Amino acid sequence: MRLFKRLREWWLRLRCPTEFLCDNCRYDYGQACTRRERPNALKCPDYTPRG
Ligand code: SF4
Repeated sequence: MRLFKRLREWWLRLRCPTEFLCDNCRYDYGQACTRRERPNALKCPDYTPRG
């Protein structure tokens, strides 16, 4: 299961059109995300591409 998660992260990272995941993330607004990685996340388990 962990391998699946890592593969998914890797795949999302690969498909991200911007340098930082946050710039393309659904949670990059207001208080939606309080992670320390924001706004320059290169790796993030909560990253969700904008639809
Ligand atoms: S969830 Fe992760 S990728 Fe999305 S805005 Fe927060 S830190 Fe950035």
